[in-house]
Amino acid sequence: MVVLVDAHCHLSDMKDYSPSKNVIPVASGYSHKSNLKTAEIAKRLGVPFSLGIAPQSVIGNADLDGLDSWLDFIKKGGPNAIGEIGLDYHWAKNDEDVKREELVFGKMLDLAGEMNLPVVIHGRKATPDIIDTFRMRKFSQPIMMHFFAGSVSEAKWVVEQGGFISTPPLHAKERRNAIHEVPLENLLVETDAPYVVRTPEQVRDAVSYIAEIKSLDFDAVAEQTAKNAHRFFNF
Ligand SMILES: [Zn+2]
Repeated sequence: MVVLVDAHCHLSDMKDYSPSKNVIPVASGYSHKSNLKTAEIAKRLGVPFSLGIAPQSVIGNADLDGLDSWLDFIKKGGPNAIGEIGLDYHWAKNDEDVKREELVFGKMLDLAGEMNLPVVIHGRKATPDIIDTFRMRKFSQPIMMHFFAGSVSEAKWVVEQGGFISTPPLHAKERRNAIHEVPLENLLVETDAPYVVRTPEQVRDAVSYIAEIKSLDFDAVAEQTAKNAHRFFNF
């Protein structure tokens, strides 16, 4: 049986996670506090992990005084990727929030370049600006669009860069269209547990979703998406 890879979940926020033989979870941090926990859990379990400061955690009156030390922790933590990071226009309330998001996103992209690591991108309602940012910077590290919710043309742009579209087990018309157009070699599967579904085991549903859209066997999708994840996260 193929061992699936859940390319994005938050083990740090799961009270009752127990390791499984069937699914390797990639643990993702999103704030300094969750990065501390994520690195500890992932190292203990021997699973890949990503560390980053996500846009939704730097809005409002979030205190950014610790930013340099947060970056330092990521540098020393030995993650497989920088993430989740990005821009989020759903939760940003005003220009000030957007500015803070941009500042932190820029620092995270610099860090990924410096550490020569791939990036896991959160882009709620902000995919066009994220793509613009990559373009302007001529960003060249591998990209994974976590919980992809963009258009077919945005998905194609990511594929042209050799990047990955990550699919949650949630059905949506735009997502179906994008998955249909993206080669299996550029797809990953994820759960975003415990927020979208409860456990990394449910990544099976994302595999089934792709298999159905592309008229492929479950095992073929399971195998290729696992291979893609091993390559992207280098484990
Ligand atoms: Zn997430």
